[in-house]
Parts: sequence; structure tokens; C-alpha cells
Amino acid sequence: MTRPQRFIAVALALLVLAALAADRARETDLAATPSAAAAAVRDAAEPAARLAKRVVDRTDEAGGAPAMPGSGPWAGAGDAGAGDGPRMLGLADGALPDDASVFDQSLPGVANLDAELLGAVRRAAQAAAADGEHLVVDSGWRSRDYQAHLLTEAVATYGSADEAARWVAAPDRSEHVRGHAIDLGPKSAAAWLGEHGAAYGLCRTYDNEPWHFELRPAAATSGCPAPYADPTHDPRMHQ
Ligand SMILES: [Zn+2]
Repeated sequence: MTRPQRFIAVALALLVLAALAADRARETDLAATPSAAAAAVRDAAEPAARLAKRVVDRTDEAGGAPAMPGSGPWAGAGDAGAGDGPRMLGLADGALPDDASVFDQSLPGVANLDAELLGAVRRAAQAAAADGEHLVVDSGWRSRDYQAHLLTEAVATYGSADEAARWVAAPDRSEHVRGHAIDLGPKSAAAWLGEHGAAYGLCRTYDNEPWHFELRPAAATSGCPAPYADPTHDPRMHQ
């Protein structure tokens, strides 16, 4: 062997030895820490299990298939957006079943509304019933998650953020998230409220949303203020 050949042979031998040593070290690591490996697997599985449970819980709360606002007769036209929404969102976020009663305290979407607004709506609902109109809540209080979902949906439905803003407010600005707005139906009952709501301090806020009411206590004496053309004209949406 020439000197360079000897050098290469020694280098190769050292490399092989180093590789063998590394292999043994790896085996030793694994052998010494079987519980650590198992724990790593367990840790990875646990969040998934918790997530699955949460989905099941929420589905249960929502009675299996929550009727999200916008899936009713006004689908696609409501400020609540269109479509059924993901099953992750449930009653706890303010989703409501069809024909939700304004008197149903078991529904967070109703019960989490501002107490004065809800009181006024209930008084108006009794008067409406005497006139043969039965108000139901299409949407009331909404969680921020729910509102964010509706906004995402609206952007997809209307094709742009600007157009979506005419129907769905951002979670930070939504009067629904604050519990200060309620969407009522069916159409004829909402029309009844549009006509008689001022006596209860209930006013339509937007021309393009005949179902959306907010509390304006002064309306009982001075009438409702003129509605904005749509939410983009509402100064609260630009604060
Ligand atoms: Zn609304």
C-alpha cells in the first residue's frame, strides 16, 4: 500500500467504527427510555382525543345538526350569512334551532342577549302574538368564533370583504357579539315589528336587513331613527 492508500483505508475504518458506535448509542437510548417513547406517542394522541370529544360534545349540545342562521327562508340574504356552518360551532356559540322562541332561556343565543333588549323583544312578541304574528329568533347573541365564521363565509359568498361588510360585521364590531342585536322572523312577523317596534324601543338598524333589531329606548316617545342603508354606513362599524 502506498501512503495515500493506507491513509484512505484508515479513514474508512474509522468511519465504519464511528457509524457502528452511533448505531449502538441510538439503540441504547431507545432501550433505556421505553416509557419516554410511549409517552411521546401518548402525548400526540391525547390532543386528538380531546379534540374529538369536544366535537362530539358540541354536536350533542347542538342537537346533532344546528340550524344556523341563514339556512332558513332568507338563506343567502341574511346578515347571518349563508350555509350550515361547521359542526364545531354549536348552541354554546349562539347557533339556534329553527323556530327558536324569544322566551327560551336554555338557548345561549337568546339568554346571552342584553336583558333590556330581550325584555323589550318579549313584550313585543306577546303583542305580536295577539295580532296573530309569532316572532322567532333567527339569530341573537353570537360568540366571537361564530361571528368570525360568519364573516369568513360571507366573504366566500359575496366574493369580497367589501361586499361581505354590507351584511356581516367583524367580531370586534358586531352588535350581535355584544348581545345588543337580534334577528327576528318570519318575514311577516319581522314586518309587524318594523311597524310596531318603536313602542317597545325596538328599531330596525339597517334598510337592507328588515329582520335586524336593536334597542333604542327613546323610540318609545320619539320614534325610531332612520335606518342606515346598510352596515357600511353605520359609524360604529368604522370605529
Ligand atoms: Zn343582525
